[in-house]
Amino acid sequence: MPTPGPSTNFTRRLGFRLTASYLAFFALLLVFAGVVFRRLLVDIQESEVRDLVEGDWAALRGYLRVTGSGVTWEYDRKNPQDSFVVERLRRVFMLADESGKVLDTSPAYTVIGPERPEVIARVLRSRAPVWETRQDPWGLAYRIREGLFLEQNQHRYFVAIGRSLALNNEIVAHFTWLYFSILPFFVMIGGLLGWLLTKRALQPLNEVARTSETITGANLSLRIPLRGAGDELDRLIDTFNRMIERLESSFRQMRQFTADVSHELRTPITAVRGQLEVALMTAKSEEQLREAILTALEETERLSHFVQAMLQLSQAESGQLVLHMEPHDLCLIAREVLEQFKIPADEEGLQLVAQLPPEYSAEVDRLQFGRLLSNLLSNAIRYTPRGGQVRLELDQRASGVEIAVEDTGRGIPAEHLSRIFERFYRVPNTDSSDSRGLGLGLSFVAWIVKAHKGQIQVSSTPGRGSRFVVTLPRTSLG
Ligand code: ADP
Repeated sequence: MPTPGPSTNFTRRLGFRLTASYLAFFALLLVFAGVVFRRLLVDIQESEVRDLVEGDWAALRGYLRVTGSGVTWEYDRKNPQDSFVVERLRRVFMLADESGKVLDTSPAYTVIGPERPEVIARVLRSRAPVWETRQDPWGLAYRIREGLFLEQNQHRYFVAIGRSLALNNEIVAHFTWLYFSILPFFVMIGGLLGWLLTKRALQPLNEVARTSETITGANLSLRIPLRGAGDELDRLIDTFNRMIERLESSFRQMRQFTADVSHELRTPITAVRGQLEVALMTAKSEEQLREAILTALEETERLSHFVQAMLQLSQAESGQLVLHMEPHDLCLIAREVLEQFKIPADEEGLQLVAQLPPEYSAEVDRLQFGRLLSNLLSNAIRYTPRGGQVRLELDQRASGVEIAVEDTGRGIPAEHLSRIFERFYRVPNTDSSDSRGLGLGLSFVAWIVKAHKGQIQVSSTPGRGSRFVVTLPRTSLG
């Protein structure tokens, strides 16, 4: 069933937002390009008109004669080409003397209006040509070149000649209209294309979301297939898959843990129950009842020991157990722990040997470091037969301190070595001497070592003995 979520709001969708930003950028770019093209077109047209007017100015010199008596256009009236040129030159034309008196003008120029005498005087003084754009009353524009045309007999003559910009303006207007009316279609097509591309690019993301929706605690083995593109999305899928892998392993451990705990609890509870039932039904004397209760008590003790160990381990693993790191003499702690094991070792007929320097200071949690040594020593004693030897060594190394617990016991077969630090893992054995182990001691040792940022290694030869080596980093305060 689809769940209402952020995906239901269309405008908030990544696809929509991507397309919208792309579209806005695309539209802006098109408008900008249109404005630039229009400007370019205007510039090109203007420079063309300028060239044409310059040509007209040069041609004017061939046809226009100005004398004291008047103005004459000299050309072969029978020659249609000449007539055409002069006709064109006289279309936007004005001739004036230095006083501003108009000597000749075309009807178009009359409409535009002749130049004022002071303007004419200024232009004649400057000698350089002046370009102007002027409009007639109907809005028609003309590009006009004004300047000194002739200087003779101490008289200077002003000429203004030009061309209409009507056609040019029409072309520019036509371009503007066409471009900006087509632009919305371009934007629409661009938007559609952008939407399709975005949809295609986001498709795998939707697939990832769909697959993740189907993943539950029950089917954590599901993986999202990699697309093989090696892109960011593949990296995301890979990270996601690895996260599920970790989750799967945690779930597996949790299930295993629950199964192990139930199993561990069931055995002693069944035993206590059985013993009490049998005692209730068959015990004939107070002595027999007492014996049954004693055995049941031993079992409940084992149970409470188990629950306590479990509690400690779960507190450690969930981070509730806070280490109090302080500088301590490790040799002193080691000697204290060894003292506790003297009697049990004697009882088991074992030789307990220690090789310790006089002093070695390091920052550790005193209680947990003591537990670490106790667990390793109690294992060594438990799994070493009579007449054997258990040895504790503490050595200063370049990398820190090395603590080794070695025994001449039964050893651990190679195939079990990698698993002995797992919770509840016990090497299967027919020997009844270790039947009371919980399989938690080494898990706790491993946690303590990890909490001290150290390492633990084990080497063992079945039938000859084992050696556990703990390395803690150099935190000696000397
Ligand atoms: P247990 O309570 O069973 O000793 P541990 O976690 O301390 O649990 O040890 C896990 C298993 O590793 C043990 O059951 C035992 O088979 C094996 N083991 C641990 N230490 C030794 C050792 N010194 N010699 C031989 N086997 C050992």
